[in-house]
This record gives sequence, C-alpha cells and structure tokens, in this order.
Amino acid sequence: MWIDYNYLNSLRSGTIENPLRILMSACLTGLQCGYDGTANGEYPSALKILKYPTVKVTKFCPEEFSFGTPRAMCDIYGGTGFDVLKGTAKILAEDGTDWSDGMIKASEKMLALAIENKIEIAVMMDISAACGSQVIYAGNRFDENKKYQIGAGVCAAQLIKHGFKVISQRDYKSLEILYTKIDASHTKNVAAIDHHEIGWYKEYFSK
Ligand code: SF4
Repeated sequence: MWIDYNYLNSLRSGTIENPLRILMSACLTGLQCGYDGTANGEYPSALKILKYPTVKVTKFCPEEFSFGTPRAMCDIYGGTGFDVLKGTAKILAEDGTDWSDGMIKASEKMLALAIENKIEIAVMMDISAACGSQVIYAGNRFDENKKYQIGAGVCAAQLIKHGFKVISQRDYKSLEILYTKIDASHTKNVAAIDHHEIGWYKEYFSK
C-alpha cells in the first residue's frame, strides 16, 4: 500500500504564506483520543511536523467522532478497509458489536475534511482499523494467534479511494521527503526506510 514516491517528490514546498496542507490522525498530534484516552504513545516522526510554520495541519480522530473516547477497541474481519466500504467485510468492537456503519460515517467525515481543507498529504497512524495505511490486523488483535495483513483501515481506504495520498508514522523514508518540503534546511536521511522495507514486514509477509 506504499505511496508513489514520485507524488511525494513532486509535492510543492510549504511556505508561511502558503503552508503545505496535511491531514493527520489526531492521536499522532498528541491529542488523547485513543481508545483508552491516551495518544497511543508518542511518535516523534509525526510530532516533528507540527513545529513548522510551513504546514497547516488538520487533525481528526475518526473513531472518536463516531464512538467517543474512551471506547472499545475494534478490528476488521473478512478483509481490509476497502472491503468494509464495499460491504464485504466488517468492523467489530471487542464485544462483537458491529461498528461498520459508524466507521464508514467517520470515514466520510474524514474525506469531507480532506476535501474542504484541500489536503495535499495525509499522515496516519498505522495498524489502526480506521487510520492504518500499510498494515492492519486481520481479525481480532486479542487472539493469541493474531494475524496482520497488508492493507488500509477504513478511513485511510476512503481517502485513498478518492485520490488522497496517505503515509504512516512509520514510513520514515516518505517522511524524510516530506520534511524537505516543509523545512528548506532539512538534510534528508537517505538511509531511512519505509514500513514495507523493514525486516519484520518482509519476513512476516513472505510466509
Ligand atoms: S489511530 Fe485514528 S482512530 Fe485511532 S485514535 Fe488515532 S486518530 Fe483516532
């Protein structure tokens, strides 16, 4: 699901007068909208974006929008976020309640925000059933034989389906390109790699 690097490289540079318009998973900006009322940890790779005056960041938590905080955890059963949007897979909360409709509504709200704010790139929390863009769980994350799958969560899928580009907080190579677009003095770390290039990913998905 990784991004077209040509797109990233062709992104314009943000300026104070005309900042680069970025949509971010709200938890990645430090907002405590995770299922347990935390920010789901701290991701310096994403927080770094916030300190530049050359960006205009739109923050949104789709799960909070539909289900409030705190809330149960949820996962995708029977496919990816694209399949949930098609109606061939479901989002189920921990107790088995079907959250598919609420998640689709949240994805539509996120898409509306992306359109309204003329978003140029989205940076979203990977693994999430809503915001994941590279890897998500395949079914119940609490199962002792839990499995991952390559794919997007429902909200990332909605954005991608409508032409928006999404990277995750673990796509360090992509983020390095993004930093050069918002910070003229940034020296790109050419050794940085994206999530799909790490050893775990290659080994896990080669099985
Ligand atoms: S990953 Fe997405 S849905 Fe989950 S807490 Fe963060 S912004 Fe909200």
